[in-house]
Amino acid sequence: MQIIDGKAVADEIKKEIALEVAEIKASGGKTPHLVAILVGNNGASETYVANKVKSCEELGFNSSLLRFDPSITESELLAEVKKVNDNDDMDGLIVQLPLPDHINPDKVMETIDPRKDVDGFHPINIGRMAKGLPAYISATPQGVLDLLERYNIETSGKHCVVVGRSQIVGLPMSILMQRNTKIGNCTVTLTHSKTKDLPAVCATADILIAALGRPEFITAEYVKEGAVVIDVGLTRVEDSSKKSGFALKGDVKFDEVAPKCSFITPVPKGVGPMTIVSLMKNTLLSAKGVIYSK
Ligand code: NAP
Repeated sequence: MQIIDGKAVADEIKKEIALEVAEIKASGGKTPHLVAILVGNNGASETYVANKVKSCEELGFNSSLLRFDPSITESELLAEVKKVNDNDDMDGLIVQLPLPDHINPDKVMETIDPRKDVDGFHPINIGRMAKGLPAYISATPQGVLDLLERYNIETSGKHCVVVGRSQIVGLPMSILMQRNTKIGNCTVTLTHSKTKDLPAVCATADILIAALGRPEFITAEYVKEGAVVIDVGLTRVEDSSKKSGFALKGDVKFDEVAPKCSFITPVPKGVGPMTIVSLMKNTLLSAKGVIYSK
């Protein structure tokens, strides 16, 4: 059994991005610029956005954090998104979720210019991804693809079971794993809370991707001997032994599942560190005009 070290892969990709950005700057090219919109002061959102800004600094990107009071109206927020759309210096825009209840997140996502939608949540990017056209791919599924690739894991012809069908993880993951691409060509089963006999379905997987948000739900009975197990889950659970008072748990019961696997991602330091790296990669692609020409 081999543990997939997401932290090490993320650090490696970060170095590659930083090097490329330094070269672009040295030759007078465009410095990538990521914009984050944060509404209100939700503690977890503050942390996520702060980490994204920090990554920009580390990699030599420009960043702008636009903060708004939770009382901002939906139309005011949409106007702010349009301002970023119209600013040629700004390459990528992320709007941190969740938004206050009076703002429709779908409306906000659909207002972001698809050419700046580096989170890959806009229906145009999801549609282009499904058609196999160049598109911004949402960060966490892209991170999983990069882990499989960097560990030379064969996916072609394998049975991949994805647990969870969310718009940001499970659904795009299932589409990506069946595409006719190097990391792809799987026969995919997408499962969810209404799936019958989930343990038996999962136990047929050569590659099992757990993204359901239920800590330690996937136990040994869900896993075939020799399977590759990717644990996307990340849930805070109370833990009085930790200084912070909580521990991060994945969806997989690591200790009993790991001995059955060929490869497995741990939590933390598995898929988690890859997500931010994918966002940075998308912002760089935008600055270079790779997905959509400038
Ligand atoms: P979500 O929107 O809550 O979706 C969860 C999905 O899991 C739903 O499709 C749900 O089915 C399914 N599900 C829930 N309970 C189930 C059960 N008992 N059996 C089978 N399926 C079940 O969650 P998400 O946003 O995709 O996130 C999933 C997990 O990934 C969370 O722990 C989240 O924190 C983590 N995550 C991590 C990263 C990272 O950077 N590592 C990024 C994003 C998310 P229904 O559709 O039928 O309700």
